[in-house]
Amino acid sequence: MATRKKSSKTESEVPHYCNMPEVPLREFGSEVNPHRASAIIISDNKWVNGTKIHYYFFDQDTDGETVTFSNGAQQFRTWVGEEDQKEVVREAFDIWKDLGIGLEFEEVDNREDAEVRIGFMQGDGAWSYLGTYVLEIGAGQRTMNFGWDLTRGDGLDTALHEIGHTLGLPHEHQNPNAGIVWDEEKVYASLAAPPNNWSREQTFHNIIRKLDPNTVQGSDWDPDSIMHYPFGPGLILQPEEYRNGVFPEEGLSDRDMQWIKTFYPPLEEEMDELKMLKSERLFMQPGEQVNFVIHPKSTRYYNIRTFGNSDTVLVLFEDEDGELRYRKGDDDSGQDYNAHIRFKLIKNHEYVLRARLYYQDMMGQFAIMMW
Ligand SMILES: [Zn+2]
Repeated sequence: MATRKKSSKTESEVPHYCNMPEVPLREFGSEVNPHRASAIIISDNKWVNGTKIHYYFFDQDTDGETVTFSNGAQQFRTWVGEEDQKEVVREAFDIWKDLGIGLEFEEVDNREDAEVRIGFMQGDGAWSYLGTYVLEIGAGQRTMNFGWDLTRGDGLDTALHEIGHTLGLPHEHQNPNAGIVWDEEKVYASLAAPPNNWSREQTFHNIIRKLDPNTVQGSDWDPDSIMHYPFGPGLILQPEEYRNGVFPEEGLSDRDMQWIKTFYPPLEEEMDELKMLKSERLFMQPGEQVNFVIHPKSTRYYNIRTFGNSDTVLVLFEDEDGELRYRKGDDDSGQDYNAHIRFKLIKNHEYVLRARLYYQDMMGQFAIMMW
């Protein structure tokens, strides 16, 4: 990202836009106060820092979908991409990783081992599910797609953008702090035309709709974000300086780089040990994460639990030849119980417990204990 130049897009062409699938919004019961709900929404769909995300490119002849045209004709479209397309996606994963974030990415050659499964179905647009929502998608299905040639134009930016969604970043042009007033009918008409051919619902979901202010954590609008679409002239009424369009710079913006590190800072080398029956009282800010190493003294079932009025996600990993493998997790956010893991630990094996705090009633009234 050393050299960043203005996007070369001309004002007349309508770009290909990312078309995120619509997923149900999270709802809370009346016992969850707005302050608590807002703290949960900020961290919702973010990965526990330190997670290794495995990605897979579809590779079988049968991987694809049959599309039906308006004249009734049918055509099989493969999800399998050419090597040069995959290279662009790999490069984009490397760019995110090279920021020094605490997440890791690894390409795997079978879909069962992958949280992220990538297709290249042409004509199906570019999209990804948001953050950990990919875990809800069946192993035979795509969690991300690239529907046009990534080796041309700003294909690398498209890959960076979709991976941004997989890391839990929403669309920046839907940031309510942007204060964008759209010429809505022009936006609908522009997106209904090729190359996007979107329905009004798709345009509303991906452009017009403003995000919940909580998801952007009071952040200022960043029109250069990789998560921002370019828009040609005539679509934005306010702010006035964008009436001639908004053209984000190529690559990750400075704020993208800072923002991703607030969720996924570099991991510390040294971890405290979580010891039997020793309650670890924790002073954490919402969104912060704590990591413990566990060395079981015997092989048996252990319990690990949080104490205090808090919303937390707990994830247990086991060290397998230097690689941390997911073993068990629990997320009590928005609910009236404390996150709890019961799992059989093996003597002389090493485990790592990661806990991300969404919310606590009172600072310092929160602890973790194992027994
Ligand atoms: Zn997008």
